[in-house]
Amino acid sequence: AGLLEVTVDLGDRDYPILIGAGLIGASQTYERAPAGGTAVVVTNTTIAPLYATRVAETLQRRHARVLQVVLPDGEEHKNWVTLNTLFEALLSQACDRKTVLYALGGGVIGDMTGFAAACYMRGVPFVQIPTTLLAQVDSSVGGKTAINHPLGKNMIGAFYQPRLVVADLDVLDTLPDRELSAGLAEVIKYGPIADADFLAWIEANLDALLARDKAALAHAVKRSCEIKAWVVGQDERESGLRAILNFGHTFGHAIEAGLGYGEWLHGEAVGCGMVMASELSARLGLMPAGFVDRMRRLVERARLPVQGPAQLSAPRYLELMRIDKKAEAGAIRFVVIEDLGRAGVRTAPDELVADVIEAHTA
Ligand code: NAD
Ligand code: ZN
Repeated sequence: AGLLEVTVDLGDRDYPILIGAGLIGASQTYERAPAGGTAVVVTNTTIAPLYATRVAETLQRRHARVLQVVLPDGEEHKNWVTLNTLFEALLSQACDRKTVLYALGGGVIGDMTGFAAACYMRGVPFVQIPTTLLAQVDSSVGGKTAINHPLGKNMIGAFYQPRLVVADLDVLDTLPDRELSAGLAEVIKYGPIADADFLAWIEANLDALLARDKAALAHAVKRSCEIKAWVVGQDERESGLRAILNFGHTFGHAIEAGLGYGEWLHGEAVGCGMVMASELSARLGLMPAGFVDRMRRLVERARLPVQGPAQLSAPRYLELMRIDKKAEAGAIRFVVIEDLGRAGVRTAPDELVADVIEAHTA
């Protein structure tokens, strides 16, 4: 697979997503990011020993100096304390406005580094180098950055776009199987919401994706990024359309919150949530029953759960969904499939939602 490129079209803030093998260690990769000044590679304790040196050595050729900041690994560290250690590193090393931050890691590193870039000296440029499949197809694209607060996930953040996204397929070789499957959940998501042909392509190529075949991964990442870029290009700040990216997420967030975050991976909860959201689409008369079977089979083949955890009751889901929505004050809104490749947002009666959950619970 040669070098693929997708553009995120945001007027004067356009940026490229580069997709291919062997990218992180090639200096041409970074040509369209600002050079000179200080480069700061922000990464974590798991990724640093695997990839940080290769990135840092490559950036030496473009920047006056290259620093590394290694943060602890884990969603539980996506908070103010960790962000502050990053700010302390930047300030103590006299990083000025010409500093470029490079987020080398999964969604946690990407979200934190992006938010730090939005805040540090009122904004310095940053580059996303996503190292999980989930980050390559979702979190590194679109400019949502955030940290968690004890009272809510991703509640403190900013919209702040990167200058460049580098999706190197080779780094996925070291990704744990469970994380690969979690990323596939977000890939699968793009089919029913935006592209029926892509859904069929995923079905035909799932085994190659699970085997980490580079050509298959290249196409999956490219098509996912195209769809995400298309949505974000029309609705950068989620005033409408961007909500369709949350297909499966209303059910999924309830599972994550109900079990305690970290019990199921986000993508696992989204996989099961997509089965439930497909069922809801069928029960609302929008899609045929066969669609639910099709989605369930695909999610299962991706080695993701298709049944909600037995310990979570339907009333508990509804309660959690209402807490999740509290900030917006209103009814629970579900992303449903209206036609293969087209999504919409609907409300639904509690009893119907409860039936849907019970139909897909162990
Ligand atoms: P993650 O960043 O926690 O990475 C998962 C695990 O894989 C970590 O332990 C990480 O160290 C490890 N890892 C990463 N790359 C690796 C590699 N190449 N080889 C070996 N191990 C590797 O999780 P994630 O799934 O990438 O991201 C989840 C985060 O993304 C959540 O915080 C979520 O809120 C956020 N998110 C943000 C957006 C957005 O639009 N900003 C969208 C979706 C998710
Ligand atoms: Zn998601």
